[in-house]
Amino acid sequence: MARTETDRCPGVLAVHQAADGGLARVRLPGGWLSAEQLDVLRVAAAELGDGRLELTSRANVQIRGLKADGPRELSDRLFAAGLLPSIAHERVRNILASPLSGLDEQSRYDVLPVAAELDRALCGRPGLAELPGRFLFALDDGRGDLADVRADVTVRALDDRSAVLTLGNRGVRMPWAEVPELMLAAAEAFLSIRDQEWRIAEVPDGEQQILERLALHADEELDPTTTRVTAGVHGKALVVTVPLGGLTQAQAAALAGATGGVRVTPWRSVVVAATATGLEGVGLVTTPDSVWEGVTACAGKPGCAKALADVRADAARLMPTFARDGRRVHWAGCGRRCGKPAGGFVDVVAVGDGYLVDGERV
Ligand code: SF4
Repeated sequence: MARTETDRCPGVLAVHQAADGGLARVRLPGGWLSAEQLDVLRVAAAELGDGRLELTSRANVQIRGLKADGPRELSDRLFAAGLLPSIAHERVRNILASPLSGLDEQSRYDVLPVAAELDRALCGRPGLAELPGRFLFALDDGRGDLADVRADVTVRALDDRSAVLTLGNRGVRMPWAEVPELMLAAAEAFLSIRDQEWRIAEVPDGEQQILERLALHADEELDPTTTRVTAGVHGKALVVTVPLGGLTQAQAAALAGATGGVRVTPWRSVVVAATATGLEGVGLVTTPDSVWEGVTACAGKPGCAKALADVRADAARLMPTFARDGRRVHWAGCGRRCGKPAGGFVDVVAVGDGYLVDGERV
């Protein structure tokens, strides 16, 4: 499928002009933020944006409501904080890693250092700055929590010696030492076969073409089941749900005060040390039975010009009584359903005079 639109995926330098001002997206390879970096983002959101930090479905952070001179000042602050290591590559550092990697018993291998190595190598190759902003790498520590994120190039740990690299559903076993180089080689092969496509799956026979260029024979199958990671203590870590993925100033300050930094997850939550305290008092959720578990929403009004409703306000009002049968829920201000989770979910879409829930008017 050839694309006809321009890739407008936002970054820090390529800011998207939303209805409520500039929107900057800060890539966080592996979701990792030191406490100092989180505080830099918090202060920047307060001084340059609308005060909130939005968590995205790719474990990135967004700042909204930037004024005209905001992006320049923001990029200076992020560069100084080590959050903008390559100007050319800033929109292509899309690397997910299992957020609990190395922290609990389900982790077969700590993939966070691999994510950092992959990021450094990616930024060291000028040609890969041409990747589309939607191209995604994923490093799964073996538990299957990233099985449904539909990354372009996925690696899942088998043990501490080897992993399986998959393009689509085709897998190749390899030692960890070869993983970063082969992930980047797959991305380079994608650039050599694409026309206007943004993702490998959009290129006819894209996966097979890349495997042939890399002289790889895919004969491994992976369990497609996704393991859900819910709020609560997991080994040495505490998973903290952020209601609707929007961190307030008080919440960001409380997380920055937790020891050892945070890992942002693709599920609008963050991972901190299990010893962290004082988070519930600022509205963060540390248990799996909350109404906010698995609930996401797009920007809606007033942030998006296309929105037919203030979905975040409506979700905040209606979620406590919402029937969902244990499923995830996504609230969208129009049919584009931005930010919808991978896999199954209750589909709530604004239609102007109400909502459709799974296609039924309510
Ligand atoms: S789903 Fe529609 S209303 Fe929501 S952010 Fe996307 S375009 Fe805007």
